[in-house]
Amino acid sequence: MAKATNASAAVYASGEFQPIVEKCEGCERIVEAESTRYCRTYAEPAAKWKLGLCNFATHVKPEITIAKTKINPLKASKRAAAGKK
Ligand code: SF4
Repeated sequence: MAKATNASAAVYASGEFQPIVEKCEGCERIVEAESTRYCRTYAEPAAKWKLGLCNFATHVKPEITIAKTKINPLKASKRAAAGKK
């Protein structure tokens, strides 16, 4: 977690930025200004988590499930042979 400089601390504390939410814990985009933690990228972190994962989160990645399909080798060879005609 980075510490905000004096100039940027004033920006974060101006009221435009909302503090991070619980789900942000561990993200590398968190900056601390005046003992409150803010997101460096978004002014309202809670809104980023409303519809699922925050797309800029560095600590969580979406799970991608790959469905394996079984291929019948006999049918596959027939399909391949039919395609060669
Ligand atoms: S990038 Fe997303 S997860 Fe990271 S601190 Fe900002 S809102 Fe939270």
